[in-house]
Amino acid sequence: MKKIIAANWKNNGSKKFIKDYFDYFLKNIDSKNEIIIFPPDLYIDQVNHYRDKDNFNLGGQNINYLRDDATLTSGNSSDMFIDNGCNYTLAGHSEVRGSDIAFIQAGKALYASNDLQVIFCVGEEADTKKNGNTQNILTKQLEDLCDKRMYPKVSPRKVIVAYEPVWAIGTGNIPKLNDISFIHKFIKTYVSENHPFLKEKDIMVLYGGSVNLKNAKDILSAPYVDGVLIGGASLEVKEFTNICNLKI
Ligand code: PEP
Repeated sequence: MKKIIAANWKNNGSKKFIKDYFDYFLKNIDSKNEIIIFPPDLYIDQVNHYRDKDNFNLGGQNINYLRDDATLTSGNSSDMFIDNGCNYTLAGHSEVRGSDIAFIQAGKALYASNDLQVIFCVGEEADTKKNGNTQNILTKQLEDLCDKRMYPKVSPRKVIVAYEPVWAIGTGNIPKLNDISFIHKFIKTYVSENHPFLKEKDIMVLYGGSVNLKNAKDILSAPYVDGVLIGGASLEVKEFTNICNLKI
């Protein structure tokens, strides 16, 4: 089954890293999965030169403007991402989340263009999980995504959510597979019951947090998992290429 395999490079990479990375990746990739690479903004254009029609998709790591007509030092608009070859953006990653504003900004990207698919990141902190509050927090994080005011111009064709428990990011700890499936089902049900346009079949949920070559096949095979979002392991080109080449 075709899965989404996404690489979040965060603030890693250099011109040389990218050249070496794609020299290997393009020779060894043999995948029917949908691959998305999120390089740092400064390197999006360089990475775009290695794309052809089908080999991988390209995304920005954050949509961070407040209003279409507002100025924002350090900001990027959805049009700029599209202009540089992106067809995806992350929004609300835990490292930049801060507040629900990330979702509202991403909503603006959604209606600014149907050419930019947003991946909304959600996930609970360790304390929240310990206190049994995971579903409450996820509900709060997903509320804006389902708000009709997010979609004043065009309705999205699908919603992609990345479930990334904050305590699993970069730690080597992952939830039990049953817990991942349970939360993914919860997200799909919540969004389909509350979203103004979309049905459960239009909602995809990726898992993120310490995914590597050893655990990727099991995670990708778990019920309700439509793909993975990978940080650290996506910087190791051999490991990432092998994950992309998995057949589920
Ligand atoms: C991330 O930060 O989105 C992430 C999933 O990181 P890692 O794979 O390194 O845990």
